[in-house]
Amino acid sequence: MTTLDLDQMTATALSGTSISREDALAVLGSGNDQLMGVVAAASAVRRKFFGRRVKLNYLVNLKSGLCPEDCSYCSQSLGAKTGVLKYSWLSTEQATAAATAGVGGGARRVCLVASGRGPSNRDVDRVGEIIGHIKAENPEVEVCACLGFLTEEQASTLHEAGADAYNHNLNSAESNYAEICSTHSYSDRVDTVETAKRGGLSPCSGLIAGMGETDEELVDVLFALRELGVDSVPVNFLLPFEGTPLQGHQELTPQRCLRILAMARLVCPDVEVRAAAGREYHLRSMQPLALEICNSIFLGDYLTSEGQAGDADLRMLADLGFTVQGANGEEIDPMELLSARRAKHGHAGHGAADVAACGSAVGAGCGSSCGGCDHATDDAAAPASGVAEGVEPEVHVRRRGAGTQVPANV
Ligand code: SF4
Repeated sequence: MTTLDLDQMTATALSGTSISREDALAVLGSGNDQLMGVVAAASAVRRKFFGRRVKLNYLVNLKSGLCPEDCSYCSQSLGAKTGVLKYSWLSTEQATAAATAGVGGGARRVCLVASGRGPSNRDVDRVGEIIGHIKAENPEVEVCACLGFLTEEQASTLHEAGADAYNHNLNSAESNYAEICSTHSYSDRVDTVETAKRGGLSPCSGLIAGMGETDEELVDVLFALRELGVDSVPVNFLLPFEGTPLQGHQELTPQRCLRILAMARLVCPDVEVRAAAGREYHLRSMQPLALEICNSIFLGDYLTSEGQAGDADLRMLADLGFTVQGANGEEIDPMELLSARRAKHGHAGHGAADVAACGSAVGAGCGSSCGGCDHATDDAAAPASGVAEGVEPEVHVRRRGAGTQVPANV
């Protein structure tokens, strides 16, 4: 194995060049005694290209569950017995309310996600209308769509409707892909990233670590993403949902997660690297160190599982001395965002609009406010507002489970 020459790797990455495959493997193979050195190397690169800025992204689950594909990690696959909420398409009003709540919490980008193999042209038109409303209410927010496999015409339609980016994760290396999915291939995913790019959309594509892949495969997928020229790389850590084939699969430690993030940063020095789903679950008390490496996180919850509350995210950034990335390069004090939200919402109970904005859009949090939902059976116990009496989150970006007796979807 190549020795860990962090000075040389840092110098390479600071010049905007990827470290070598051998160096990337050395980062993944480094020991705990070297961990802080690895984090410091990645941090120097992060600070050169992104300073203290953190981009906040907010997920809106437009359509949850019922996907015919068989991705073994996914709680929304039709074959999974995960009990996540299942519903078909939020209304434009519901989606806009959820997106606006995320923007109010500091989100620079809203990610509109719909489960399924890919959209029909009618679905694309529907999402285009939602994008129009979101942009009308929040002119400066970036919108990223994540709707599955896409034709070039659909990509152009989304772009014309105002979408800025398209997310389609490679998820794992080509050599591991058949192990995690049989209904589509790695090349289908690569094709979609390229299609979105040709349609004028900024490509966002990442991976899920912790699915039995080797170090070589992790390096392979990072180099593949770099080769594809993606603009943002969400690094997810497997949430081993009960009821999925990967239920109970636990191979990650906080140290391993930090090495993976550092490797991603050093392979893609000047690209947005996002600590995505599984951040809280796997990094635990090491979350702040991940922010020294990554310049982007999701605010609040994930598609079908709880994340850290939005206010805790903002406090974490403030504690680290980081700022929230604004629309025009400005840097926003996270505590100012928090104060503004508190001033707006006070400590009174939820109004109807707040309920809708609570993240009710997302698979884990429909509560009773979104029509057309085919709620999973355990959701019957959810309080009408989705928030327990007397519990008032400061940043209203929570989903099912937050502040309630309803278990999280993990
Ligand atoms: S295609 Fe997407 S929504 Fe469908 S099972 Fe795979 S990851 Fe889940």
